[in-house]
Amino acid sequence: VKFVYDFTEGNKDLKDLLGGKGANLAEMTNLGLPVPPGFTITTEACKTYLDSGEEPAALRDEVSTHLKALEASMGKKLGQADNPLLVSVRSGAKFSMPGMMDTVLNIGLSDKSVQGLAQQAGDDRFAWDSYRRLIQMFGKTVLGVDGELFEDALEAAKVAKKVTVDTELEAADLKKLVTKFKRIVKTEAGRDFPQDPREQMDLAIHAVFDSWNTDRAKLYRRQERIPHDLGTAVNVCSMVFGNLGPDSGTGVAFTRDPASGHQGVYGDYLQNAQGEDVVAGIRNTVALAELESIDKKSYDQLMQIMETLENHYKDLCDIEFTIERGQLWMLQTRVGKRTAGAAFRIATQLVDQGLIDEAEALQRVTGAQLAQLMFPRFDDQAKVDQIGRGIAASPGAAVGKAVFDSYTAIKWSRSGEKVILIRRETNPDDLDGMIAAEGILTSRGGKTSHAAVVARGMGKTCVCGAEELEVDTKRRRMTAPGGVVIEEGDVVSIDGSTGKVYLGEVPVVPSPVVEYFEGRMHAGADDADELVAAVHRIMAYADRVRRLRVRANADNAEDALRARRFGAQGIGLCRTEHMFLGDRRELVERLILADTDAEREDSLKELLPLQKRDFIELFEAMDGLPVTIRLLDPPLHEFLPDVTELSVRVALAESRGDANENDLRLLQAVHRLHEQNPMLGLRGVRLGLVIPGLFTMQVRAIAEAAAERRNAKGDPRAEVMIPLVGTVQELEIVREEADRVIAEVQETTGIELKLAIGTMIELPRAALTAGQIAEAAEFFSFGTNDLTQTVWGFSRDDVEASFFTAYLEKGIFGVSPFETIDRDGVGSLVRSAVQAGRATRPDLKLGVCGEHGGDPESVHFFHEVGLDYVSCSPFRIPVARLEAGRAAS
Ligand code: PEP
Ligand code: MG
Repeated sequence: VKFVYDFTEGNKDLKDLLGGKGANLAEMTNLGLPVPPGFTITTEACKTYLDSGEEPAALRDEVSTHLKALEASMGKKLGQADNPLLVSVRSGAKFSMPGMMDTVLNIGLSDKSVQGLAQQAGDDRFAWDSYRRLIQMFGKTVLGVDGELFEDALEAAKVAKKVTVDTELEAADLKKLVTKFKRIVKTEAGRDFPQDPREQMDLAIHAVFDSWNTDRAKLYRRQERIPHDLGTAVNVCSMVFGNLGPDSGTGVAFTRDPASGHQGVYGDYLQNAQGEDVVAGIRNTVALAELESIDKKSYDQLMQIMETLENHYKDLCDIEFTIERGQLWMLQTRVGKRTAGAAFRIATQLVDQGLIDEAEALQRVTGAQLAQLMFPRFDDQAKVDQIGRGIAASPGAAVGKAVFDSYTAIKWSRSGEKVILIRRETNPDDLDGMIAAEGILTSRGGKTSHAAVVARGMGKTCVCGAEELEVDTKRRRMTAPGGVVIEEGDVVSIDGSTGKVYLGEVPVVPSPVVEYFEGRMHAGADDADELVAAVHRIMAYADRVRRLRVRANADNAEDALRARRFGAQGIGLCRTEHMFLGDRRELVERLILADTDAEREDSLKELLPLQKRDFIELFEAMDGLPVTIRLLDPPLHEFLPDVTELSVRVALAESRGDANENDLRLLQAVHRLHEQNPMLGLRGVRLGLVIPGLFTMQVRAIAEAAAERRNAKGDPRAEVMIPLVGTVQELEIVREEADRVIAEVQETTGIELKLAIGTMIELPRAALTAGQIAEAAEFFSFGTNDLTQTVWGFSRDDVEASFFTAYLEKGIFGVSPFETIDRDGVGSLVRSAVQAGRATRPDLKLGVCGEHGGDPESVHFFHEVGLDYVSCSPFRIPVARLEAGRAAS
């Protein structure tokens, strides 16, 4: 095998072997663009080194051969005393791992060659500064010296000279600093800074290999789900310098605007500087367009190259370049990151330019980007007073009064106030406060902190880790930089999409994309409409190619109508328990407590017309489309009074000697029905089998509602769904009853009702015996919420707020299995149940109605396993449509 590729030998499709950076440098080289010559050591070499602790036997010679060729083409030798070739040694894995791994610049400088570089460049200061940087970077990353020691020495040199910035240090100062740095290396690393350039290079290469396995790199990979066994490539590239005077410089550029997608000249340029200076913000950059007046020749060449790159990659590219004394060099390119809005615009622009087709356009956008575009945002025309910035943890725009504890959040929100809950960090005790708040702001913690995880789960706006804001919960206030104090009750606005925090109320504008889905906006000329037009076109492509149908989880006509506007093709889950709350709760209480058949039948009789009304409205809203109605599911105690409250009431009454008969009876029943694990208790089909008449009442309501709609010339398509089935016997019993009731309604109304009866698959046993269950079911709908709960043994109501933060931080999973389907575990049960079900009943209809139905990655999985539809909350429907299209194209 070959372990080293010259830049002329690789190409952009070799990312596995050459890493992203190396593959793209090779691609640019082969396009004839000016890339400083160099070579890439493969990920295979890295893997061998990491596995065995030694580099592959052939590597040394291969590197020598390539180095010789490089030296020949540059006309100078690595570290040569009078005219040194210098190289950079950079990591570059297949997937970008920003800042996670190591880089060493200026390899080849030594006590001797620093003189040569000074002469060659005609600039002493430059040469000593380059040497100083090498010892510092090498000392830190290769020899493991604490970087602060170098920083401190540099700082001391500046203080001694009474200057504030590095550039004010002169050659003599830097020369002294080099001596000091070498002493630090000797003391800390127990060895001299190597003077042999080849030794420098080899050690730097090993250090880059080793950096694949640092703790932070491993953690990053676990969280981003990047496999651990890929290894990194190493790029050895001849150095070019942007800090050799006013005719030199460095910059970044985009082939089009990453914010809007518009074509034009976008980027920044910094004269007489190196890449790190741009990042460090030592001086202000100028707009790239100004390069035209600084160096017209390089500018024109750069514009030409950008056009070449965009036509070649057929996408927006970002670029890093350096100009060394009037000569332009390309240091890096890659397909560039962009905002969500730009992604949609660019995809359609590229179709119009004939660069990509519609199928490819679909791959250029994601459901997550669409979801982002559907949040309301702050008006960018508004005058704002920004007081801080944290991590954009959960998108949205929230405005409210500052409160510093959950109790106040709940109290104020109950009295109708909008509040922002501000904490240093949150913990499970804050849950109720978080629910009550419009948004959450913390000064500590990252994207996997408790606040971030829980807020995302609730779809609540959250900014976390805004470290410059000092939160003092005891005194109920927060201090912003500059001494601005925000007291409890002061209004703040937080932007969960940018992480910005503002004082006062910033006006919120609705999402133009939602306005469009709602039918309130059409194509036009301004900026928002351009976005809408792009979204419209992409959605049309997706709808044309997708195989999965998309339904809504909706329990009332209002939600159903909105879902239809958003493109729903039916209702996949109507949770009837939501129809039993409110004023009907008392009726249900009576039903549960009924001692005699007569009492029970009375309450059922009262419930029947109410349920029927619900269904009629739903069928009307979804006329002509399937509506899956699930019979009552949740634990009984949810309909009964709280056991503690009731106990106290009864105890008080008893101590006064006036306990009432009804309360006593109620308390007994509540005790009798109390469960330690209600989610695993008397729920779903179990309830239907234990409370006589309950399910038949619901089926009758459905059948009569359907009949009535038919009489009104409607087209109701009802499907009856039985929840929490574990065995076919349960289903058979319910089915017999249901068939009997339906036949009865058909008889009395004279209308033939084609009601399908099916079941949820949401228990492992149901999935494992799906072949038998399909005998009694016309459709399956996977309840992946309960299935995840029962397969993992994770309580769905508790774990996300308790230990999931720790799990995410340890990288046990990158995302909650309640959010994205666990393909290997839960997913494999779904897959086998699909096969077993279809084997029994080839025309079995298959869907999913757990939260995963609206999750982008999960939609791809459901497409792959061959479901007929996904069902999700109305707001997620566009996302599901888009991802179903992407999965199929
Ligand atoms: C499920 O379990 O996935 C489901 C859709 O039902 P529910 O969330 O109502 O338990
Ligand atoms: Mg369920």
